[in-house]
Amino acid sequence: GRMEELLVYMNGEFVPESQAKISIFDHGFLYGDGVFEGIRAYNGRVFKLYEHIDRLYDCAKVIDLEIPLSKEEFAEAILETLRRNRLRDAYIRPIVTRGIGDLGLDPRKCSNPAVIIITKPWGRLYGDLYEKGLRAVTVTVRRNAIDSLPPNIKSLNYLNNILAKIEANAKGGDEAIFLDHNGYVSEGSGDNIFVVKNGEITTPPTINNLKGITRAVVIDIIRELGIPFKEANIGLFDLYSADEIFVTGTAAEIAPVTYIDGRTVGDGKPGEVTKRLIEKFNEITAREGVEIYK
Ligand code: PMP
Repeated sequence: GRMEELLVYMNGEFVPESQAKISIFDHGFLYGDGVFEGIRAYNGRVFKLYEHIDRLYDCAKVIDLEIPLSKEEFAEAILETLRRNRLRDAYIRPIVTRGIGDLGLDPRKCSNPAVIIITKPWGRLYGDLYEKGLRAVTVTVRRNAIDSLPPNIKSLNYLNNILAKIEANAKGGDEAIFLDHNGYVSEGSGDNIFVVKNGEITTPPTINNLKGITRAVVIDIIRELGIPFKEANIGLFDLYSADEIFVTGTAAEIAPVTYIDGRTVGDGKPGEVTKRLIEKFNEITAREGVEIYK
C-alpha cells in the first residue's frame, strides 16, 4: 500500500486528503452551486484534457461563474496534481464551487470560487460487467427538463441522477436509463447511451443529455470504422428491440448492456459491434492524451 496520503489541489495549494476541507457556507455544499468534471489518465497521459477543460468552462459560463484560472493554468494544475501524487493511471475530479456566501441563494454574495482537483487511482467502474454486460432499467424519474436544469450543465447538483440510481438499485439494475418528458431516451445516470440495430448505430442528440466526451470519441471511432451511424431520438421500442446497447462515459468507458427492463438484449451477451468499439477505444486511450511527465 501507499505510505503517504494523496494530495488534493485546493486554491493553488496541495493539501493531504484528510485536511482538504471546504466551508459549510460554500454554496457548492449548500446548494449544489458549482460545476465539475470527470477525467481519466491512462498510461501517463490525460485523455481529452482540453475537451474536459472546455466543457468545464462552458458549464461555468452558463451558471455565470468565473473560474479564477485561465484554461492553461487549470490544465497545468491538473497535471501538477497528478505529478505530486506520482499517478500515471487515474481518475481526476476537478470541482469549481461558487464559494463562501451567506445562507441566502444569491450568488453575488459569493466572491471567491473554490477550485479543487482530486486525483485517485481507479480501475473499472463496472468490474466484471464488461464481460457479462449490465442490467439496465428505465426509471420513472425523468431527466431534468432542458428548460429547467439543462442536462448539458455538469453541475454539482446531481440529485436527478441520484434519484435515478436509487430507483435502479431498488429494481436490481446496474444502471438507470432516463427518458425525457417526451418519452425519448435521454442517457444513463452517469453515461450516454447507444443502440445497434441491423448494423446501424444510433445515439440521441445531445439536447436532453450531457454532451459526453466519450460519446464524441466513440462517434469518431464509428466513423473511422465506416459503421452506419445516426443521431436520432430513440424510444422504448428501439431500446427493447435493439440488437446491442452500450453506454459510454469517462468512468464507465464503453459498457455493454445485455438486459433492459428484464428483456434480453440480442442474445444476452456483449455484442460484436460493441466489442469492436471497446477494442478500438482501449487502443486510443492507451496512446493518446496530454503527457503528464515530460
Ligand atoms: N451523462 C452523465 C449524466 C454523466 O455524468 C456523464 C459522465 N460525465 C456522461 C453522460 C458521460 O460524459 P463523459 O463521456 O464526458 O464522461
